[in-house]
This record gives sequence, structure tokens and C-alpha cells, in this order.
Amino acid sequence: MHSHYIKEKDFKAFVAKLIAAKPVIGPTAKASRQQERFVFAQLSRPEDLRLDYDVTILPPKKEFFPPRQDLLSFDGGRAKPCLEPVEKVLFGVHFYDVKALDMTDALFQERNEDRNYLAHREAATIVISNVQKVSPRAFWASIGTEVKPRGHDAWLTKVAGGYVLETATTKGEALLGFGSFAAASESQIGEARRVNESAAGKCPKALRGTSASVAKKVRAAFGNEPLWTELAKDCFSCGSCNTVCPTCYCFDVQDWWNVDQKSGARTRYWDSCLTEDFAKLSLGAGAAENFREERAERFRHRFMRKAAYLNAKLGGPACVGCGRCSAACTADIADPTEVINKIPEAA
Ligand code: SF4
Ligand code: SF4
Repeated sequence: MHSHYIKEKDFKAFVAKLIAAKPVIGPTAKASRQQERFVFAQLSRPEDLRLDYDVTILPPKKEFFPPRQDLLSFDGGRAKPCLEPVEKVLFGVHFYDVKALDMTDALFQERNEDRNYLAHREAATIVISNVQKVSPRAFWASIGTEVKPRGHDAWLTKVAGGYVLETATTKGEALLGFGSFAAASESQIGEARRVNESAAGKCPKALRGTSASVAKKVRAAFGNEPLWTELAKDCFSCGSCNTVCPTCYCFDVQDWWNVDQKSGARTRYWDSCLTEDFAKLSLGAGAAENFREERAERFRHRFMRKAAYLNAKLGGPACVGCGRCSAACTADIADPTEVINKIPEAA
């Protein structure tokens, strides 16, 4: 749509007015003894917004697809949905997390629409902010670069003396009413473009090859069992690499019954394909089959999903290079650049 400019001195008042009007979820610092870490949380004052964050512990998908979510409640023969979407602003999301949300949007609209996700998603306004500080495990500049973020309503970039806000939708345009914005000049727009382009050169990690060549070699390595056994030999099957991933979306559904044995709730929880029981199926009469019993099979499955299986559907890999999995893995074996770069080229 259009590009607007707000001076640094007016920015705090803009965020304060937004917070007063509706819930604003933004990156904020979380106390830690070792290092400063960041989370997306509801802001109560503009001072808590930390647009200089590198990466958050969990991605913003938790706002639409939380770790635990009631899908419906039931009482006897009656069931009613648990949909209570709240209009809110996700402020300061990095572009790679918007790419991940775009993927989840597409997958949760495929065939049967997932209203429990989509209703929350539709009620949100998403504002990207430029990457001011790059995470030490990030490689977003070398993966899926052909896929651009689409699901945001506005893109905020810090420039000299203030911020450029490029609006993309009418929801993005509506933000202008909360602050002292003016039309951005050509030089401010040019500066914002250069700021965003230069961030790519700061990614410390890199994946070698195009999305197509990576997909080809990862697929071709499916039958290389010694390779996957070696890569997965230190895996604890803890599932942390799935839990922190913005593009993982598997869940488990359970019914919880109250003591009256007629009312309760149907609830979903994040699930993780790296855990031992993920692929365990009941065969009835106490029998079960686990079709990915070995940790090497589960480890391989994750890389097949991220680099090859979903490419045709998503237009690129199901990984946005945030580096959260690399940082979350106790054994430090989950880094997609380390794993994929080790896989030999397809013949
Ligand atoms: S790769 Fe790392 S984070 Fe993932 S399940 Fe194995 S040990 Fe856990
Ligand atoms: S696989 Fe790792 S780097 Fe890729 S999107 Fe998931 S958490 Fe981020």
C-alpha cells in the first residue's frame, strides 16, 4: 500500500496508544541467569517492547495454535465450540516467522479448514519489524529465499531518526490512526530497503545449495541408513527441536471427562515426531505397532519434512532458517545447516 514515517520521539506514544486500545503481543526480554532471552508476550507498557531482539524462544504461532487448546466442550449429547478469538496486534515479528505462519495458514486451510487456528489468525494484525540483531544460529538468508513473507499487515523498519512503516493491508493502514505518521520520503523508503537487505549478510550460518538441489539430495539420502544412524546417534528423542520450530504443526487430541462422566472437553496439545511414541498405533486387543521405532528413522523423518516432502505444497522448504532448533537441542545435533551440508550430493 503506502510507506509512512514516524519520528523516534513519537514512537513510544504510538505503541502506548496501541497497547491502550487492544492487546499487543511483542518481543520482550525474559530474565535468565546465563544470557538475555526473548519471548512473545502481551505488553503492558511500551518500554517492554524489545525490537532489538535476536530470536524468541518460541515462535509467534503460539498465539493462534497454543501448546494446549480446547477445541470443543461437551455435555451429554451436546457439544459447543471453544472459539473465542480476540482482536490483537502481533508487533515486531521477524519476516522469517511470518513466512512460517504463511505455511501454517496454508496447511490449516487445506481440505478441512482448522477454524480453531484460522479464527485466531484472522483476528490478528501482524507487524513485521526488521531484524536488528541476528541470532547466532540463524541461516534464514540461505534457505527458501524464493519464498517471500505474505501474511503481514505492515512492515516496520528502523531508520535514522525514526521508523518507516510500510502498510500492506487495510488492517495495517488502521495502525496509522494511533501515531503521528507522515508520508515517508523517497530517501527514507530507500534507506528502509537497504537496512532490510543488509541484514541478510549478517546470518552466521548458511545452507549450501538451492531449495531444489537440497530437496533432491535429502530425498536421495532416504535409504542411506548408516548416515542417519550416525547423525542421530546422540539424539535423546526429547522433541525440543519440534517444540520450538515455527513450521511444526503436529498435535495430539484427547478428551477429558469430568467426574459426572457426561461432560468434558476435547483438547489438543502440540506433539513431536522426534519422540518415541509419536508413530505408535494401536492394533487393538493391547497390541501396538510403531512405524518409526528407531531414533534414526525419526531424525530422518524430520529432515525429509523440512527439506523435501512439503516443498511442492509450500513453494519452498518447510524451514525458515530461524535456528531455534539448533539452540534448543541439548546434544547440538539438530542444526539443519550442519546436517544437510553433511549429506552427500545426489548422483
Ligand atoms: S535432535 Fe536434539 S532436540 Fe531433537 S529430539 Fe534429538 S536430542 Fe532432542
Ligand atoms: S527446522 Fe529449525 S531452523 Fe528450520 S524453521 Fe524449524 S526451528 Fe527454525
